[in-house]
Amino acid sequence: WFITLEGGEGSGKSTQAAVVMDWLRSRGIPSRLVREPGGTALGERLRELLLDGAGRPVPMAEMLMFAAARAQLVETVILPALLAGETVVCDRYVDSSLAYQGAGLGLGGTTVWSVNRLATRGLLPDLTLLFDCPPDVARARLRRPADGIESRDTGFHHRVRQGYLDLARAEPRRIVVIDATRPALVVAEAVREALERTLGP
Ligand code: C5P
Repeated sequence: WFITLEGGEGSGKSTQAAVVMDWLRSRGIPSRLVREPGGTALGERLRELLLDGAGRPVPMAEMLMFAAARAQLVETVILPALLAGETVVCDRYVDSSLAYQGAGLGLGGTTVWSVNRLATRGLLPDLTLLFDCPPDVARARLRRPADGIESRDTGFHHRVRQGYLDLARAEPRRIVVIDATRPALVVAEAVREALERTLGP
C-alpha cells in the first residue's frame, strides 16, 4: 500500500503519522515512513533550500524543486519499497504541490500536475489522509513564529486549504478528509477508522 498524509502546518499531520505507523505495525504489515520534501540526501538539501527561501525561487522554480525532490524519492525509495512488498507512508506528496504551488501560489492544477505526472511516474497513493484545519487554528497551535516558507500571508493559507478540499471533492475515494481541529486522540480514532475502511480490519 501507498498512503500519504496531507494538510497545512499545525494540522497535527506529523503526530498522526505515528498513529498510522503503529496501526500498520500492530497488524504485522512491513512499512516505512518517509517525508517530503526530503527522504533522500538530495531531497533533504532541497528541503533546506526550500524552507529558508534561499535564492528567492519564483513560483515555477519552487514547484520544480519540490518536483525534483519527489522524483528522487519516488525512484530511489518509494518504488523500490513498494516493489519489495512494503507499505510506504509519505508525509506530504503530490497533493501538497497541487495545494501549495497550484492553488496557493496560483500556478494552477494543470501546470503542476503536468510536471508531477513525470516526477511521480504516475504513481498515486491508494489512500490519502487530509488533516483539515482552518489556518488560524493551525497557526495558534504551532506556538512558534512562522519563518521562511511558512510565513506566507493568511490569504495564501486559505487558498491552500481550499485547494486541498477541492482535490478531496474531486477524488473522494482516495482522499479522506479528517477534521483536525478535534483533540489528537479523537483524530487518531478517525485515522484508524479510515485505515480499516480502506485496508481492511
Ligand atoms: O510538512 P512540513 O511542515 O514538514 O512541510 C514543510 C513546509 O513545506 C511547510 O511549511 C509547507 O508549507 C511547505 N511546502 C510547500 N509546498 C509543498 C510542500 C511543502 O510550500 N509542495
